[in-house]
Amino acid sequence: MPDFVFPPAPIASVPVDDGRLFPVRRIFCVGRNYAAHALEMGGSPDREPPFFFTKPADAVVTGGDDVPYPAATTNLHHEMELVIAIDSGGSDIAETDALTHVFGYAAGIDLTRRDLQDEAKATRRPWDMSKGFDHSAPIGAIAPAARIGHPAKGTIALTVDGAPRQSSDISLMIWSVPEIVAYLSRLVRLEPGDLIFTGTPEGVGAVTVGETMQGSIEGVGTVAARIVGR
Ligand code: MN
Repeated sequence: MPDFVFPPAPIASVPVDDGRLFPVRRIFCVGRNYAAHALEMGGSPDREPPFFFTKPADAVVTGGDDVPYPAATTNLHHEMELVIAIDSGGSDIAETDALTHVFGYAAGIDLTRRDLQDEAKATRRPWDMSKGFDHSAPIGAIAPAARIGHPAKGTIALTVDGAPRQSSDISLMIWSVPEIVAYLSRLVRLEPGDLIFTGTPEGVGAVTVGETMQGSIEGVGTVAARIVGR
């Protein structure tokens, strides 16, 4: 055991739906990947290159655990997303080879302090504090691609206290899973344990204390989280 000055933090992990654990190394997120959501955010739906931001690995919230309402916001938004789980690394991965680096998929929620993000956009500052806060990445169990394959279509939906908020189809992603993996691997070397949130469809909106989000992706899985007071 190295002579650490204090014990290292536990390794963040996400359950696999076969009972194993997927150790999380990093969390990458695609910024804009559905035309209808780009439009609702005041952007353009064209196919300009994808851009990425990150969350800390220990932002994951698993097992349907509660999410404490975060500090410094009055406008916490849900963004329902397909999540890619990487189990073999590489740089400059070819699109044709990209799926061999994918262990599986999960349903995840990219929680966003929208007021801080709007301020960051207006002042041309980074998104870190609007996206990468504590408990900002609720995620369901990972379904291995060896069993479910590589989903390219299927309903992606989220309800809040049972009321429909987001409903779309992952076939409407501007950038596909192979394209995202290939593109990101040209910016950083992907490593086993990396998660990639692939962007949200339209219908994002606020959640507050006492409300429960339930998300699902057809053929992949579900995610659930209740917002509680701090
Ligand atoms: Mn997002």
